[in-house]
Amino acid sequence: MRDSDIAQKQKSPSGVKDMPAPETVACTHCGSEVEIWTDEEETLCPSCKYRVFKRESTIH
Ligand SMILES: [Zn+2]
Repeated sequence: MRDSDIAQKQKSPSGVKDMPAPETVACTHCGSEVEIWTDEEETLCPSCKYRVFKRESTIH
């Protein structure tokens, strides 16, 4: 598992789009599992309506 490979997939050159796939992330507000698609950067938690971002790196 290399970070460079993931970065290349997220930023595909020359407009070639990969097939979006669902990912499950934990809501940073209530902890519920939220499904987010790889072509989305954020989604709303269905439980608490909190905005959940795909990137797990939290800003403090
Ligand atoms: Zn939530």
